[in-house]
Amino acid sequence: MKALMQDKRVVVIGAGSCGEGWGNGKAAAFLYAQEGARVLAIDRDRAAAEETQRLIREAGGICEVAAADVTLSSDVADLTEAAMDHYGGIDVLHNNVGISFTGGPEETTEEEWERLIRVNQTSVFLTCKHVLPIMTKQRAGSIINISSIAALRWIGFPYSAYTTSKAAILGFTENLAAQYAPYGIRANCILPGLMDTPMIYSPLTAAYGGNVEEMRAQRNKQCPMGFMGDAWDIANASLFLASDMSRYVTGTRLVVDGGLSLGAVRP
Ligand code: NAD
Repeated sequence: MKALMQDKRVVVIGAGSCGEGWGNGKAAAFLYAQEGARVLAIDRDRAAAEETQRLIREAGGICEVAAADVTLSSDVADLTEAAMDHYGGIDVLHNNVGISFTGGPEETTEEEWERLIRVNQTSVFLTCKHVLPIMTKQRAGSIINISSIAALRWIGFPYSAYTTSKAAILGFTENLAAQYAPYGIRANCILPGLMDTPMIYSPLTAAYGGNVEEMRAQRNKQCPMGFMGDAWDIANASLFLASDMSRYVTGTRLVVDGGLSLGAVRP
């Protein structure tokens, strides 16, 4: 049987992980490669991307690496060229990069605001800007943008810049999907809920009282299923959207949150 991503050329942006273990981007890159994709792992932190490459190669997969800061158009142009040099095209663009900090407008400095919007939001615009001409020529492509359920609802603490950037990704992706559907290019969002990944530890622990184990316990309790999701839940959803299994799915918001955003109240 043919693997789900056989020979697909995939660029994962933010393919490393900010700490030990599996982040969403790292797990998605690994799973794509397991399913036969040729992966280009991009990260600002080259060592983090190389760790993903090591794991992929160790498992028999194909992965190249390039370092890039995707807030910079020149870096994005270079990574696009690297993808063309390595694989001759781009079938899937997976935008995973995201940073977070808590706080409302009063607690957030203008510099922090602009930095987060540039990393989380402008980077998605830049990668699409550079990759779309290639996909348009191919008359095929799948773009996956990682948003968050924080784009839809209050998640328990002020999170103004992050929420704004993740909501913008929804609108951007839907616009993209409508514009590029005639070219065979699909664009979809994944909205993770509360996930247990390395990225939550340093920026969010304070919002949960300062203790990591306490934060974990609280976050598990907040989830209707009684536990947080993990990076593999996001990777599996990504695999569906990247592969031809979802060939008729575009402009959608795929919520992966164990029912959290249903807002069900339990006695
Ligand atoms: P991660 O922080 O472990 O990995 C992201 C990678 O992106 C890091 O290796 C980092 O070096 C890289 N990066 C950051 N800025 C960059 C830049 N300017 N250019 C290039 N690379 C850059 O995070 P992850 O677990 O892979 O998932 C992150 C995504 O998931 C984010 O978009 C985040 O908002 C989203 N998300 C996570 C949760 C959760 O609870 N963990 C919930 C909702 C959404």
